[in-house]
Amino acid sequence: MTTPAPSALPASGLPSATVVLKPQRARPFFGRHPWVLDSAVAAVDGTPDDGDVVDLATHDGRFIARGLWNPRSRIRVRLYAFDAATKLDAEFWRQRIAAAVALRKHLGLDDRAAAARVVNSEGDDLSGLIVDRYGEYLAVQVTALAIASRLETICDALAAELNPRGILLRGAERGLAKLEGLALPDRLIRGAAPEGPIFIHEHGLKFGVDLTEGQKTGYYLDQRDNRQAAARHARGRRVLDMFCYSGGFAVACAAAGGARSVLAVDSSARAAALARENAALNGAANVVVEEADAFETLDALTAAGERFGMVVLDPPKFARSRAAVDDALRAYHRINRLAVGLLEPGGVLVTCSCSGSVTREDFHHMLAGVAQRAGRPVQILESRGAAADHPVSASCLEGEYLTCVIARVP
Ligand code: SAH
Repeated sequence: MTTPAPSALPASGLPSATVVLKPQRARPFFGRHPWVLDSAVAAVDGTPDDGDVVDLATHDGRFIARGLWNPRSRIRVRLYAFDAATKLDAEFWRQRIAAAVALRKHLGLDDRAAAARVVNSEGDDLSGLIVDRYGEYLAVQVTALAIASRLETICDALAAELNPRGILLRGAERGLAKLEGLALPDRLIRGAAPEGPIFIHEHGLKFGVDLTEGQKTGYYLDQRDNRQAAARHARGRRVLDMFCYSGGFAVACAAAGGARSVLAVDSSARAAALARENAALNGAANVVVEEADAFETLDALTAAGERFGMVVLDPPKFARSRAAVDDALRAYHRINRLAVGLLEPGGVLVTCSCSGSVTREDFHHMLAGVAQRAGRPVQILESRGAAADHPVSASCLEGEYLTCVIARVP
């Protein structure tokens, strides 16, 4: 697997071929959906190279959109413009990135001491590109081959807009990378890498982020506002933060929310260490972090008859595909059933799913099943998603993956 050299790409941004759809397959693309699957393609008029600009046309030759070609992926073409006048040249990428940066400014998420997602793939009309800003550093994730071949252009634009001290490339999830034919090891692309962890502000709290070793791009920015929302219910309560990673919910509940005490659990030793450091950083002496398996811990706490005023469940993705949804829902049911059992009357359950293929409706139904089995009502107070710096394109709802329900259990 190799990534085409940037020099191999024509700079004009004009199409080198036309991809012709099968009859009856054009509707999603008139609806601005950006993914053209191989199964929708009837023919290719021309011989595009990997990453080339191509036009998309109906079976009878009508222009629909302009995008980038990847013969190795099931997503054969990713669409970026829906008019024939737009060239996908360096200026085009610069403008898209400038628009994404401007949105974060509008959201008030441009504080240099804080962190924000600056580019959210389809949600910013930049399918295949994710950029997170952690203070003065950028972490870039590329999930499309054609974006990989334009990385220098994209970094030029990011550098011009945000003037970061360093730009780091973080590998995409292994499965995704394989689907796209991408081989991009983690590396420093521009400037310098931070010496150690960097510290970011989040709703008045401070978190250390390990940009080179951490999970995802280092931190779960999508849960920023959900941590704050959860903390609003924590006052005086004993809190269990299950799957705590670097302690986001635990620290928010203890340091900002006034929890009586917090037990935070993660199976990764590295995560548990980060959580302990973040608790100390915020003076939250009442946070205890354990390195343990969540399923075993939930069983053990249940067997011991422990009770909590609040339980947070933020597990990793249980469903990696549509086919895995039923198994995932069973796993969600199991941990949520155990969590409800641990809640004292009037306790609060904060329960999340980051499996894109589990819909919000599926997740609510799972909670109905939990209420039935527990013989207790579950009152949904809030059903939340990712923070606003993770916009979702209405034309590509596949980008909506996070559900965070805050519920009361009388
Ligand atoms: N709540 C966190 C993010 C959680 S990410 C935040 O706000 O930042 C999910 C976490 O679950 C990861 O840190 C991963 O190490 C942990 N994890 C995965 N499987 C686990 C298991 N079986 N038991 C406990 N933790 C697990």
